[in-house]
Amino acid sequence: MHMKQKKIVLLGSGELGRELVIALQRLGHYVVAVDNYENAPAMQLAQEHEVINMLDGAALDGVIAKHRPDLIVPEVEAIRTEQFYKYEQEGYTVIPSARAANFTMNRKAIRDLAAKELGLRTANYLYATTAEGFREAVHTIGMPCVVKPLMSSSGKGQSVVKTAADIDKAWQYAMEGSRGDYKEVIVEGFVNFYAEITLLTVTQQNGNTLFCAPIGHRQERGDYQESWQPFPVKEDDYQHACEMAAQITKALGGNGIWGIEFFLTNEGVYFSELSPRPHDTGMVTLAGTQNFNEFELHARAILGLPIPEIVQLRAGASAVILAHANGEKPYFTGVEEVLKESQTDIRLFNKPTTRPYRRMGVVLVNDEVTADTTALKNRAAALAAKVGVHST
Ligand code: AMP
Repeated sequence: MHMKQKKIVLLGSGELGRELVIALQRLGHYVVAVDNYENAPAMQLAQEHEVINMLDGAALDGVIAKHRPDLIVPEVEAIRTEQFYKYEQEGYTVIPSARAANFTMNRKAIRDLAAKELGLRTANYLYATTAEGFREAVHTIGMPCVVKPLMSSSGKGQSVVKTAADIDKAWQYAMEGSRGDYKEVIVEGFVNFYAEITLLTVTQQNGNTLFCAPIGHRQERGDYQESWQPFPVKEDDYQHACEMAAQITKALGGNGIWGIEFFLTNEGVYFSELSPRPHDTGMVTLAGTQNFNEFELHARAILGLPIPEIVQLRAGASAVILAHANGEKPYFTGVEEVLKESQTDIRLFNKPTTRPYRRMGVVLVNDEVTADTTALKNRAAALAAKVGVHST
């Protein structure tokens, strides 16, 4: 078989997109990186770029018509994904599929598919569209419960209702954090988990569905802080998580990597949510934990190239480097101190501006595959804390 260079339109040009561009270019392909601001991390490396509002359907149509890509690859959620169905009808390939990208935009679609259609184990949940309905839902589900706008990003508008005094506040907060004019929330029973994991799952055109070793992670403000791999999971729980991952990826369809999130509890494993693309917690694979990092796996899977196996080579951890203020032309201190350490590396994303909590880089550490990942995670976090982000 001969391989022709493929043109890929990458929708979203953040740090995950940047690593994907590297993986795709190493395999000889051509990437047009798209995002809503100039000089985004993936744009700096791609052969071409476009700056548009990806929530604007007409603008998206314009980019697709101009480039006529072999593959349309979403890297973020905030895209007018309804258009994807039309692109598929026109003969384009959407990664992993229009259905997957569209369902995962909205918590309701994915949760109903998981819980009602497939019978996966999830937290109990109800939806609400009014303050009154919300109050009822909270009482039916019981407190504590977790409230999330159906459409939002990175934990925006999300809160925990512990007592009746929190109810009105939680509704207000969810309304403010909703994306666009879509005002609906999900109220979920609080899952008393001892850990949350990401199961990176790879679906292939001509091969089996593959699973990476579980990744442990810690979230704050709905955003990931540290992740580490492999995370030890009881064999039964791991099997159950793999079965759930296989079922839901099959129901959504298409090829590529998926970040599937589960809660681990003393009563077993609960499906939480998924994204049909490389996952931020999966940046730990940049620490050399596997024979292929998550971007290389995604690249191969979307190009229809073989992945003979996924081998866990090392234990690793990743910890985020965050900005604290608004600014431009960021610069960093403490980098040398971090790089003095053995088996340690850093990725700085070259984002052109900073704002509070914006992710500017990660510190990556690795050790023997049998190493204690809790210690590794702590090491990564301590090193990341030494890196100062400054701007002008
Ligand atoms: P999500 O945006 O759904 O990924 O939620 C962000 C984070 O909130 C998760 O990673 C958990 O730490 C926490 N969380 C979400 N849903 C629940 C739940 N039902 N019970 C307990 N914690 C939750």
